[in-house]
Amino acid sequence: MHPSYTTKATGHYILKNVRLETGFEYDQQDVIRTKTDLFCIEIDDGNIKTIQTNRPNAEAIDAEGRLLLPACRDMHVHLDKTLYGLPWQAHSPKLKTVKEMIAHEQKIIPMLLKTSTARAEQLIGLLQRYGTTFARTHVNIDPTSGLESLEHLMQALVNKNHTFEAELVAFPQHGLYYTDSAPLMREAAKVKNIGFIGGVDPYTIDGAIEKTIDFTVQLALDNNKGMDIHLHEPGESGIKTIHYLIEKAVENPQLQGKTFISHAFALAYLSSKETEEIAEKLADAQVGIATSVPFRGTIMPIPTLKKYGVQVLVGNDNVQDHWSTFGSGNMLQKANLIAQLYGYETEFELSRALQFATQPMLPLDDEGNQQWPKVGDEATAILVDASCSAEAVSRIATVKALINKGNLSAAHQIPFEGLA
Ligand SMILES: [Zn+2]
Repeated sequence: MHPSYTTKATGHYILKNVRLETGFEYDQQDVIRTKTDLFCIEIDDGNIKTIQTNRPNAEAIDAEGRLLLPACRDMHVHLDKTLYGLPWQAHSPKLKTVKEMIAHEQKIIPMLLKTSTARAEQLIGLLQRYGTTFARTHVNIDPTSGLESLEHLMQALVNKNHTFEAELVAFPQHGLYYTDSAPLMREAAKVKNIGFIGGVDPYTIDGAIEKTIDFTVQLALDNNKGMDIHLHEPGESGIKTIHYLIEKAVENPQLQGKTFISHAFALAYLSSKETEEIAEKLADAQVGIATSVPFRGTIMPIPTLKKYGVQVLVGNDNVQDHWSTFGSGNMLQKANLIAQLYGYETEFELSRALQFATQPMLPLDDEGNQQWPKVGDEATAILVDASCSAEAVSRIATVKALINKGNLSAAHQIPFEGLA
């Protein structure tokens, strides 16, 4: 009796009939097809132990020819204050500015906190069903929720133990000084699970770019954390804030590679020359951009940022909450959106676009050499209904199973509907 991949598995097991990409097929210089083959993959204690020629009759979990890809990662999401699990609610026409949103949150957070642990788990379940095993989640640190949002989210992650990982950003959503959040941020920064110090629109919310960023930088340095600042402001104050953050990263090399600006909408309004200049500066200072890939008449210059080597992270941001209801939870859908927006349509371009879902691992390098999975790699992957990466992005492939550090779950068995 061969257990099907629709069951759970952990520890030591073998997957057979696993499809892996093995190279590109060319017509002169052009990639016209992705070559694949079937393999047996042995997983032991969270890692890939062997990758062997397929043995269809092996005593093993049958992947039935499905494609194995690196698992997806969501690099900007808010797991702590979702409305997911509550009745449908579209965005309110009364909530237009960030300050109006803050006032609204001060009213609803006490209600949300009552069930936020269970609903964070549900939202994680949704992300998992779409093949995500890792997220960078911002978590509100504000005088209304105190550290409770953080505590509830950490409990949800403990409850999801061994199937989902997250890095946490302490997020002063209601302003550092606009509300009295600075003392709470100092407390949150000491929490081991916090990996990044967050922020929001230093100029429009706190009325002071330098003072707010200086506090954030010092908190990050004192506690050996990274930074990930929400910056919605377009125009002069937005650009000034980006330059100031670049300056701080140049002054403090330990922040390089650990400093991110989320949204950075100001970049979408620059001329192409200005965009190239700032992209070069961001790359040199190793300051990354995290984006939910918005449109609203403005398109983020992702190709230019990538061209200069800026680290671009992608996330769902809001999955059904009072800020937005457009996050689907599906990172393959984000990669598909990027491919559509920027015209990535050939086999090669689509295969590269998968990096925006897996962030950044791809099965094949640009020359078509197999680079994932390798023996010894952590067994964190998804099985999808697609023949290759390009098809997975273009058709937004259905995820059938996900494996996090060797723990395999069938996607349809992950609970995500209804409160526990
Ligand atoms: Zn956000």
